[in-house]
Amino acid sequence: MTNPSTSKQTQRLLKKYDLKAKKSLGQNFLIDDNILNNIVNAAEVDEDTIVFEVGPGLGALTYKLAQEAKQVVAIEIDRRLEPALKERFGDVPNVEILFQDILETDIDALIKTYVKDGERVAVVANLPYYVTTPILMRFLSHASYINTIVVMIQKEVAERLSADPGQKSYGSLSIAVQYTSVAEIVMTVPKTVFIPQPNVDSAVIRLDIRSEKKVHVHNEAFFFKVVKAAFAQRRKTLINNLLHTFGKDKKETIVALLDSIAIDPQRRGETLSIEEYAKLSEALQSL
Ligand code: SAM
Repeated sequence: MTNPSTSKQTQRLLKKYDLKAKKSLGQNFLIDDNILNNIVNAAEVDEDTIVFEVGPGLGALTYKLAQEAKQVVAIEIDRRLEPALKERFGDVPNVEILFQDILETDIDALIKTYVKDGERVAVVANLPYYVTTPILMRFLSHASYINTIVVMIQKEVAERLSADPGQKSYGSLSIAVQYTSVAEIVMTVPKTVFIPQPNVDSAVIRLDIRSEKKVHVHNEAFFFKVVKAAFAQRRKTLINNLLHTFGKDKKETIVALLDSIAIDPQRRGETLSIEEYAKLSEALQSL
């Protein structure tokens, strides 16, 4: 059951400001109070927490966050929503809304502007699904400033982010995310709690940022190059994928390097753990 207060408020704002949800901006407004509360609880938002919210929309989540957080800084691309958001938060002192594209936003400057020493930082959002991965990657590249990320995303993507080696959804995205954080699906969410309803199922995922990266590598860019190479064609063996990226003429050397770290060249990329990728990347650096 959706809570009538959030549902009615959303309907009212859409009508009053003559707004239609824009599909191209991933606008699916959340109207279920329980789910909104669960998101805020999962992020452990408290009076020491600065929250960065991507895409406040009509403010359903922003409103709940503002009740618990020290400050909410919400970044919204769609200026049409400005009058509705002003009506709701114009006189709420701990909510600031910035009208800009999160993908054009300098995350480093954003964090430095709003966060003081000792404050907890949480990124909380019902993300626009068409840009889930680039948004997460932008925040994860500043992971050392962030404590936790709790976001509603497409269920299939949530499964990829939290997958373990050997699982169907395990891939380079799982590794990129788990390198910096511990990923856990908090709950799956039906389509019926959004206006309009999306075409896909959703899930809330929590990424708790690790105090140290899961593995130590000397060259992160090279580590991710190796991971990408290994997953380039899922049906191919590890050795064939590596040769495709590093050159067929390197076959003997690569087989010998794999042998030296006890990784069978005939395995597939999807069976290697992050620790094995770290070993692999350190070994291949001598190429
Ligand atoms: N938070 C609201 C809720 O839960 O009802 C709305 C969530 S809706 C799924 C995604 C929101 O992200 C929309 O308000 C959309 O306009 C906004 N958005 C889409 N692309 C964006 C971008 N590149 N930068 C900032 N906001 C964006």
